[in-house]
Amino acid sequence: MKKMNRRKILKISGAAISGSFVTGHSMAKAPRISSKKLKILVTGAHPDDPETGCGGVIARYTAEGHDVKLLYLTRGEAGIQGISHDESAKIRTKEANEANKILKTNPVFFGQIDGDTMITKKWYEKMINIIKAESPDIIFTQWPIDTHRDHRICSILVYDAWLNTGSNSALYYYEVMTGEQSQNFHPSDYVDITPVVETKWKACFIHKSQKIDEMYPDSHGKMEVFRGMEFGCKYAEGFVHHQQSPVGYLPGPV
Ligand SMILES: [Zn+2]
Repeated sequence: MKKMNRRKILKISGAAISGSFVTGHSMAKAPRISSKKLKILVTGAHPDDPETGCGGVIARYTAEGHDVKLLYLTRGEAGIQGISHDESAKIRTKEANEANKILKTNPVFFGQIDGDTMITKKWYEKMINIIKAESPDIIFTQWPIDTHRDHRICSILVYDAWLNTGSNSALYYYEVMTGEQSQNFHPSDYVDITPVVETKWKACFIHKSQKIDEMYPDSHGKMEVFRGMEFGCKYAEGFVHHQQSPVGYLPGPV
């Protein structure tokens, strides 16, 4: 048998993790490339959550021609100290729109207020209606064990809508500022984001009101490197797949 070097072994095991073998799904259920144009919905509480948590996988999807929408629960109304909610929402909506241009995605604003998000029957229904209308192949949402209330609420609203629309979409959870925000997060799947990492950074750093470029190296920057070490590449993003949802197509190793 030909001796394999460590990198090759990692690549093969990485392919298994990203593609199918993890959680016991068969290769047939998780194609390594998608011949079909997919509809993907990435949900987050604030402008910057989908970008920082999933910007790499998003850039890889759109580079392959898939249709990706970013749904923001709020417009970041409470995200800039010293100015009104309206002013902050205006600035952060502009930043979100610019990030979407960079990632080649379309933004959707859900209509809740930053720092005051809520779970009520009305908001459950609204999320159900959006998921029903979009009928995405794959949904990404925030991990529910998170120190930020808005992140937890986003996760629960999306999970409820997934349950109440037939659980047909593949459902994946993403992490943000792990340790400080996401906690107890252990990925089941990884995506190598090395080829698109600069696009991701550009989309994240456009959120100038949040000074993301300053905090990024010690939070998401470290996470990307660490997930890359686990997966056997330079930079990766990690996800938790809901095991009772279909296996979604995740871009394979590069
Ligand atoms: Zn957030």
